[in-house]
Amino acid sequence: MAVVVDEQIEGIYQQVRAKNPGEEEFHQAVKEVLESLGPVLAKYPEFAHQKIIERICEPERQIIFRVPWQDDKGHFRINRGFRVEFNSAIGPYKGGLRFHPSVYLGIIKFLGFEQLFKNALTGLPIGGGKGGADFDPKGKSDNEIMRFCQSFMTELYRHLGEYTDVPAGDTGVGGRELGYLCGQYKRITNRYESGVLTGKGTGWGGSLVLTEATGYGAVYFVREMLKVRNDSLEGKTCVVSGSGNVAIYTIEKLQQLGAIVVACSDSNGVIVHDRGIDLALVKRLKEVERRRIADYATTHEDARYIAGGNIWDVPCHVAMPSATQNELTGRDARTLVANGCFAVAEGANMPTTPEGVKVFLDAKIAYGPGKAANAGGVATSALEMQQNASRDSWTFEFTEKKLDEIMTRIHATTYQTAEEFGAPGNYVLGANVASFIRVAQAMVALGFI
Ligand code: NDP
Repeated sequence: MAVVVDEQIEGIYQQVRAKNPGEEEFHQAVKEVLESLGPVLAKYPEFAHQKIIERICEPERQIIFRVPWQDDKGHFRINRGFRVEFNSAIGPYKGGLRFHPSVYLGIIKFLGFEQLFKNALTGLPIGGGKGGADFDPKGKSDNEIMRFCQSFMTELYRHLGEYTDVPAGDTGVGGRELGYLCGQYKRITNRYESGVLTGKGTGWGGSLVLTEATGYGAVYFVREMLKVRNDSLEGKTCVVSGSGNVAIYTIEKLQQLGAIVVACSDSNGVIVHDRGIDLALVKRLKEVERRRIADYATTHEDARYIAGGNIWDVPCHVAMPSATQNELTGRDARTLVANGCFAVAEGANMPTTPEGVKVFLDAKIAYGPGKAANAGGVATSALEMQQNASRDSWTFEFTEKKLDEIMTRIHATTYQTAEEFGAPGNYVLGANVASFIRVAQAMVALGFI
């Protein structure tokens, strides 16, 4: 029976590869989920009969569009925009927008696929989608960013709606970009439809805690993983890759819970500061002045800047990849484990390569995959939608408590599902199986969607 199911799943994976040529990241994300689904098909044969896996791997809708804009010198520029509406079985499509030169359909599809399962894990009524553009915000003036965002939204607006598709931020799309996007949506539609985008400024419909949510949530997830091992973050040495939104608020919560963060990075290099990262300085450099992390070492002479360095070579107890996909390889995972690392939680999406994941699972360290560990951002987005729908705004404390409860519940669900399906401690299997079952059951209930 198991052999038949395995062959079935391998056949589906080969079909996905053949139908989506060249989309390596999407193939990787699909494979990672499919590898967990053998025991699910054995328990729920109706999912195979109704071809639920094949349906889930095919997005409901994929939109690709031209984004023309003009730079400050008056030159015309053309970028490519995307929105992949993956699955709306449990709620409107929900997922961020990424502006980065590496963006192409395969990246957006991998992110949309991950998002669908992550959103299901939150227990909230949100489907999965993702979008973005191959636009590089680095080095652009505010006016250029505004013109780009306005042009991007001039096409995207027709596909959105608070009951249809609700984007948010991701890499390269923060408060400034969301403001321009929201402004253009309002101009075109003549509607102050707050619930159509999340991550808004707190003065105009945004939720408190959303800026902090992904990082804080990832740390709550580590706290829970350590709790079941009768341990805590107090006094632990931590390393956090990146120095963007997720990394900054991961560092903040780690420090609040008594951990010592000794390294962070950007795509040019690594900062190591043994007495602990000065977060106020990182915030100023990155959030206010939009400078490089190398500049940290000019303020703190006892910190080391390693140009082109590998952050995973820095010994730590807890590692939190919070930069980008495939940033932590099999070699890096072996180094971390050899250096005594016993917990890894992913703030970024799919930051660990399949070989790295295997190293962590074989070593039986506490390993929280992104779709569980970084779900705090989208969960708080759903809380923003809730506040917008009820014309309400909650306090920081109330919203953070809700985030904490959601992350604690996600941990419990993934932990218990892994036990139930015979793989105790395997959060990868727990997250994939629990979220897949939720989406699959909704698809079965809704009929032929
Ligand atoms: P940001 O753009 O705010 O920050 C990304 C950070 O990662 C920057 O410091 C960037 O440096 C660094 N980085 C990028 N590529 C590399 C690399 N190859 N090596 C080292 N550092 C690198 O993005 P976010 O913090 O929003 O997102 C980070 C990750 O978290 C992404 O995978 C995203 O999908 C995921 N995520 C984000 C959520 C959110 O709410 N924002 C929610 C859930 C997941 P540089 O400035 O040099 O490019």
